[in-house]
Amino acid sequence: MNESGKYTIANIPGDGIGNEVIPQGQRVLEYLAELSEGKFEFEFTSFPWGSDYYAEHGLMMAEDGLEQLKAFDAIYFGAVGWENVPDHVSLWGLRLAITQNFDQWANIRPVHFYSGVKSALNYHDLESLDWVLIRENSEGEYSGFGGRNFTGRGPGKEIAVQSSVFTEEGCERIIRHAFEVARTRTRKKVTSATKSNAQQYGMVLWDEVFDRVSKEYPDVETERWLVDALAARFVQRPDTLEVVVGSNLIIDILSDLGSALAGSLGIAASANLNPEGRFPSMFEPVHGSAPDIAGKGVSNPIGAISSAVLMLEHFGLTEEAALAHRAIEQAVSDGNVTADLGGTLDTTQVTDAILANIAALQPALAKA
Ligand code: ATP
Repeated sequence: MNESGKYTIANIPGDGIGNEVIPQGQRVLEYLAELSEGKFEFEFTSFPWGSDYYAEHGLMMAEDGLEQLKAFDAIYFGAVGWENVPDHVSLWGLRLAITQNFDQWANIRPVHFYSGVKSALNYHDLESLDWVLIRENSEGEYSGFGGRNFTGRGPGKEIAVQSSVFTEEGCERIIRHAFEVARTRTRKKVTSATKSNAQQYGMVLWDEVFDRVSKEYPDVETERWLVDALAARFVQRPDTLEVVVGSNLIIDILSDLGSALAGSLGIAASANLNPEGRFPSMFEPVHGSAPDIAGKGVSNPIGAISSAVLMLEHFGLTEEAALAHRAIEQAVSDGNVTADLGGTLDTTQVTDAILANIAALQPALAKA
């Protein structure tokens, strides 16, 4: 917790259901602050950046947007992507502009299996599964180096080059971070997702760094696994996974697989951390703008609320984070959920249930 107990948060709801779920996470944070009786408080500032902003200004965010964001303690981000803007323009113009320029190199994506959620996975002991996927978030396949040329040669002759960049420093810091996270868990194990058989430069460097760093953590079990075989293991041997670390693209894909296996993309949370604290970190649900359900009020707010829980942990408000997490678990096991989880509640009603659970659980926390 910081000394003043006051945290400034920049809300960027962005596109589609980002505008529905971010206000729900804000409600939970405000309620927890109210219950703290002055111990801490949050001040929210909302930024209208996203695809509508682009339609008006030709930019995804204000020209000095990064400068404006720098002053905040955290960024709470919804989703980006809409049909009026090409996906690569909206992604690079907003989300990647923030993660890369603020050196948010650690993307933490917990995959939590909730009691009461019908999983896509046919496994006998779902509740024992609890993974943390750790994604290198600053380089690798999303470094943005490359170009297109030769349209002048005529139709069908254009070329595109997209380079991956793996630096020893970039590999080492994320792999080390994964080992540190593993040390906080009951079963200490890190799986490195790689594809070094085919990617013989970048991913071989990744493997070498993984082997070197793992020697410093003899208490942590380790393994290296090719990502194609690892994808199958997510389905066939889910009990063998704990912390999985990998490159930008690899974990981007595996974490959607993970959250779909856990029941819905709508429940998955993530944190984009600048662990050194030189820049604000950013918290966002894993899901996108979901144009198919946007505006209907049925989006699941749990991914966004769980991302707010990760923000509480980041601020050191660990008891409050645990309380909110238990309140979410309770809402899910009571069936107070949206249609993607088989329920009938709308977005706001799910949050109402979570707030009621916080109120009910709070005295128990006070006594503990
Ligand atoms: P984007 O291009 O922004 O990533 P997308 O539609 O390709 O958008 P998602 O937005 O992640 O990808 O949606 C994928 C599917 O998951 C959609 O059918 C969507 O309705 C569903 N989905 C995503 N988030 C939620 C949510 N919070 N609640 C309910 N369903 C969701």
